[in-house]
Amino acid sequence: MTTLPLADTPAAPGNRVNLLGLTRMQMEQFFLDIGEKKFRAQQVLKWIHHAGVTRIEDMSNLGRALRVKLLEIAEVRPPEIASQQDSSDGTRKWAIRVEGGGLVETVLIPAGNRATLCVSSQVGCSLDCSFCSTGKQGFQRDLTAAEIIGQVWLAIKSYDAFGPGRNRVVSNVVMMGMGEPLLNFDNVVAAMDLMLEDLAYGLSKRRVTLSTSGVVPALDRLAGVSEVSLAVSLHAPNDELRNQLVPINRKYPIAVLLESCRNYMAAQSDKSRVPTIEYTLISGVNDRVEHARELVELLRDFPCKVNLIPFNTFAQSGYRRPSGNAVQRFWQVLVDAGYIVTVRTTRGDDIDAACGQLVGQVVDRTRRSERHRAADDTQIISVG
Ligand code: SAH
Ligand code: SF4
Repeated sequence: MTTLPLADTPAAPGNRVNLLGLTRMQMEQFFLDIGEKKFRAQQVLKWIHHAGVTRIEDMSNLGRALRVKLLEIAEVRPPEIASQQDSSDGTRKWAIRVEGGGLVETVLIPAGNRATLCVSSQVGCSLDCSFCSTGKQGFQRDLTAAEIIGQVWLAIKSYDAFGPGRNRVVSNVVMMGMGEPLLNFDNVVAAMDLMLEDLAYGLSKRRVTLSTSGVVPALDRLAGVSEVSLAVSLHAPNDELRNQLVPINRKYPIAVLLESCRNYMAAQSDKSRVPTIEYTLISGVNDRVEHARELVELLRDFPCKVNLIPFNTFAQSGYRRPSGNAVQRFWQVLVDAGYIVTVRTTRGDDIDAACGQLVGQVVDRTRRSERHRAADDTQIISVG
């Protein structure tokens, strides 16, 4: 590999385009706009996302003149890692410092021959679900496409795994970190494009999942532009209860949301795919057998999988995690009704990496001592 001397790098970083967040189409347009050939986009995408190279100087097949030109106007700038923590169970969590202040978190959860990366889409969240620590934080800002795809890039980089092995480090992505992805539509769609793009990460559409609390107009829009898998945060079997837990339900009630999900699935070329219904079980709130029966009724004509998430506590949440027995009883009702049901196991517990806890360690370092966890963690199964 030939490299340019560092002296070619301009001293002051101006308003350079961050190439990390450009989709294939955007990258092609970028090169056309600067009077270069379109195929340069393919070369640069591969350098960034296949090889993990950020120094334009090192992109040896671009030719010296082009590299000098690019150094003036562009850069490849991944987000900055504020901290990295490893759990005893293999889960790794990063706190990422974003420009303008604020932190978001990214979690990598290895399980067998899969490794699922849980990616954030916003700093905070405006939707204020009553059981979510990100919601309690309020909304600060949307992440850029570079900051979203940069989380995938950083995870692979941290294992020094760029090259053909990169998809062993990140085999699946779930948009289930901080923020509501559909409220940051364009940047999330661009980042997911790169996850699926062969010149970038090349993940199959089944291995990239967007989770939403139900922003119906945006979900309707997504159907026309994306083929990723869908997870919907339902959490209640009726509108009255869901209004309390997921306030956006007052705007887009359950029937409207389920119809939008149907339309999303109908727009997919592969008709065998079904959405995942996420249901966070909160002790005494939505975890009774009657709730499970009502859920069975609600979903009777709605093909789906169900993912139960025992509530993860955080300071001042005011909610409790259900016992393993309560989870088991709820699960049984759904299984008896013929559903495929997984119970999300708590991973990375010693580093506060579980769903809905992501910002806990950052804003409240005392919560670990206050936590009351159910002693009998549930047995079963997957993440995402
Ligand atoms: N904003 C999106 C995606 C991020 S949250 C959404 O709401 O779907 C990912 C999942 O974790 C959602 O189903 C969310 O409701 C759930 N969750 C949030 N806080 C939680 C908590 N404290 N315990 C368990 N699950 C939680
Ligand atoms: Fe936002 Fe999702 Fe948390 Fe609700 S559960 S506040 S939509 S991040």
